[in-house]
Amino acid sequence: MLNIVLFGPPGAGKGTQAEKLVSKYNLVHLSTGDIFRANIKGETELGKLAKTYIDGGNLVPDEVTIKMLESEVDKNPNAEGFIFDGFPRTTPQANALEVFLQGKNTSISVMLALAVSEEELIKRLLLRGKDSGRADDANEEVIANRIKVYNNQTAVVADFYSAQNKFEKIDGIGSIGDIFERLSNAIDNHKIAL
Ligand code: AMP
Repeated sequence: MLNIVLFGPPGAGKGTQAEKLVSKYNLVHLSTGDIFRANIKGETELGKLAKTYIDGGNLVPDEVTIKMLESEVDKNPNAEGFIFDGFPRTTPQANALEVFLQGKNTSISVMLALAVSEEELIKRLLLRGKDSGRADDANEEVIANRIKVYNNQTAVVADFYSAQNKFEKIDGIGSIGDIFERLSNAIDNHKIAL
């Protein structure tokens, strides 16, 4: 199985690139942010719980997020692999994912981390906020908090995969096509090394 963690701060382009990668490599795309938003739209209990955290730009508690992610993986028993987009965002999430995948005799193949400057992130998020309909993209204070939360709680997850020699940094600046090529090259090189 090819299991990729697509990593990077909010606005790095994870969602855009994940969509292109799933069709090229025949993977299942699991975006925890998208799943939460679908639950908010559907007014489920999970959606109601998640909304307060998401609106403030804070993380939904680990316990809730991990349970949700695991049940989404279980919905795809025949997947050739997964792209995890927006997960894991904390070290406990990374630990839980590792144990969960071990139970299925698989593991994370590689973490690809999109690197984008903070200035560029804010610019992209504000632009996206104009037409994404996402409240957390339209408010500069919430954007600033999401970047702060990323720096304080999420950035450290890179160390978890670094320690396993699974971390790869990808330049996230340039055209969508250029960045896609960089990611594809990293995946292809990784597959050869497997
Ligand atoms: P995203 O679409 O990845 O930017 O996620 C939007 C929001 O959903 C985040 O700001 C968090 O509030 C929540 N969220 C998404 N993924 C996670 C996660 N792995 N852990 C906790 N909260 C998450």
